[in-house]
Amino acid sequence: MAITCQGCSTEISEETFLEAYKVCPECGYHHPMTAYERLELLVDEGSFDEHDAGLYSTNPLDFPDYEEQLARDYAKTGLKSEILTGEAKIDGQSVAITISDFGVRGGTMGAVVGEKVTRNIEYATQSRLPLIIVSRSGGMRMQEGTLSLMQMAKTSAVCVKHAEAGLPYISVMADPTFGGSTASYASLAHIILAEPGARIGFAGPLATASIKQQLPENFQKAEFLLEHGMIDRIVQRSEMRSLLIDLLDFCVNLS
Ligand SMILES: [Zn+2]
Repeated sequence: MAITCQGCSTEISEETFLEAYKVCPECGYHHPMTAYERLELLVDEGSFDEHDAGLYSTNPLDFPDYEEQLARDYAKTGLKSEILTGEAKIDGQSVAITISDFGVRGGTMGAVVGEKVTRNIEYATQSRLPLIIVSRSGGMRMQEGTLSLMQMAKTSAVCVKHAEAGLPYISVMADPTFGGSTASYASLAHIILAEPGARIGFAGPLATASIKQQLPENFQKAEFLLEHGMIDRIVQRSEMRSLLIDLLDFCVNLS
């Protein structure tokens, strides 16, 4: 089965596509990855110990159809919960790792995502581990209202405690990383990496259109943000694991 590149419309064989970690060999377009695929790409085989797998959302505000939407998303992604968190090894170095999956309500952060991110950061602090968070998020979970928004403060607070303990945090922003996730934990790392072409921002294109001002072209793309100092480096997917190994080696030897 051939895949049509979303960047240049080239037909790519499934084998080539998967071998290249879903990056187009012609134009370099980085296609979306699931949390499990990302885990396989980044961590040592068989080293992932998942935490809080049984934590799942309820429907605290009785939002119509919310439970059904979540059940469909779980079935589609194969995830037991909304976001992968746990401990793993990267080239033998233990890390606390969180990986979001866009397939569950667009990777939005509600109470469960916020709680799992928080627990993973607290685990990193208590176990004195470097922290890696890979984000793909549409923002906050509107079906959970204020319960969702408060997760921004909660996750930010534990990021600060992790940093105060002298422990490194590397944030990886994949396409897209938006809204409250960008405005909280995803931007609070010591080192912020992004994939080529990743859309990163606070308000998405529809919200920014409401201010009726001409904004710079591509102002929410990783390349623009690198030029303006919001992120530290753009990293090809094929090089992400080896860069993380180098960065972890550097950070752990510092501490
Ligand atoms: Zn392409």
